[in-house]
Amino acid sequence: MRKVCPACARINAVVEGSAGRLGWTELIDIFANEGLTKTEVDRVLDAEIDGAPTLRDRLTSRMANELMKSLGMPGRQSPEDVRRVRQAVGSGGQGTWSTGEKASGNN
Ligand SMILES: [Zn+2]
Repeated sequence: MRKVCPACARINAVVEGSAGRLGWTELIDIFANEGLTKTEVDRVLDAEIDGAPTLRDRLTSRMANELMKSLGMPGRQSPEDVRRVRQAVGSGGQGTWSTGEKASGNN
């Protein structure tokens, strides 16, 4: 196991315990109640470790799959799929965000 600081451990625990059941708004409320700042949360959610999908990618895929299932469709979006889309967008493929700006902004 990697060594993680208390903030990272808390964030991971919240995500693992609630992903798929809670949306971003609820999660952010929990993080705030835990005394975590948006900066800390974003850093953990967006940390790329060994080129693997980030925690945010995993959460996004779980939320998307839950949504699909609730609509009666098979939810098959993998974290890798989310990561690929994010990277395509981030590299300016669709020009939604200007270069160098994070795609995970507030709106
Ligand atoms: Zn940490």
